[in-house]
Amino acid sequence: MADILDGKLIRDQILAELAPRVAALSGAGRRPQLAVVLVGNNAASEVYVRNKIAACEKTGIESRKITPEATLSTEALLALIDSLNRDPAVSGILVQLPLPPQIDASRVLDAIDPDKDVDGFHPLNAGKLLAGAPGLRPCTPSGVMQLLLRYRIPIEGRKAVIVGRSDIVGKPMAILLLAANATVTICHSRTSNVAEECRRADILVAAIGRAEMIGEDHIKPGAVVIDVGMNRVEGRLTGDVEPAAMRRLASAYTPVPGGVGPLTIAMLLSNTVQAAEGSHR
Ligand code: NDP
Repeated sequence: MADILDGKLIRDQILAELAPRVAALSGAGRRPQLAVVLVGNNAASEVYVRNKIAACEKTGIESRKITPEATLSTEALLALIDSLNRDPAVSGILVQLPLPPQIDASRVLDAIDPDKDVDGFHPLNAGKLLAGAPGLRPCTPSGVMQLLLRYRIPIEGRKAVIVGRSDIVGKPMAILLLAANATVTICHSRTSNVAEECRRADILVAAIGRAEMIGEDHIKPGAVVIDVGMNRVEGRLTGDVEPAAMRRLASAYTPVPGGVGPLTIAMLLSNTVQAAEGSHR
């Protein structure tokens, strides 16, 4: 019987550990503040933002939600980012993606002060991750690392296979596992035999965005399977891995929902606290 890696449990541990740090900062008149910019009204983004703000409130982090019209120009959004960069009360800035098509998203993300870049997407923070230097790390892969570490899943010397090579999940996940001394393979849409690569994995991370693409053919018996996928299928949230295959073959796995998702938010708050403390430097 496979163990379930409970993301909500680990999230609650992380948030409980953040609470005294938030209290110490607040006592010193430096209460952490997260500025969330939500452009337009994408229904899924509104839910994500609501969850992030609710988690801030629970942890004592102040949040500021800024909701410009969907017709906003790149220049106007850059001016908003500039004002948030200069505002000493703002510890972290999050621009909820996706942005409307008229906005140059990479110019906007590059304009965020790297010390307030709580999503960890700024090229400077990406470079620091690659170099193994301290910096703000992308939330989803660092949440997965917390899950593995806190469940004491051995990483060093194990073979890790990641399916997906996005800048947000797959690539930083690979770098973090490499830094933890795993032997890492990254698969993508041009990989010639994804199942064969996956079957070698002691730790398999699926970050694809294709509902239940990973099945029995991909999982080595006893592997640890991390399902990052969040796909809506007929209104139901579905991962990238078939749940029955994980239950049958894995030694441990993350469920969807209740696995990686809660950790992403926990790490966002962790990054906001680090940014307020300056402890990420
Ligand atoms: P992207 O669409 O940016 O990247 C998907 C990756 O999967 C690409 O590298 C792509 O390869 C690869 N891929 C697509 N099809 C195949 C295939 N048939 N075989 C092998 N590889 C394939 O997605 P994200 O990384 O942003 O997100 C991945 C998933 O994780 C999504 O379901 C997303 O919703 C979820 N997610 C969940 C989060 C959470 O908090 N739980 C946070 C962020 C994302 P190529 O590069 O060649 O195109």
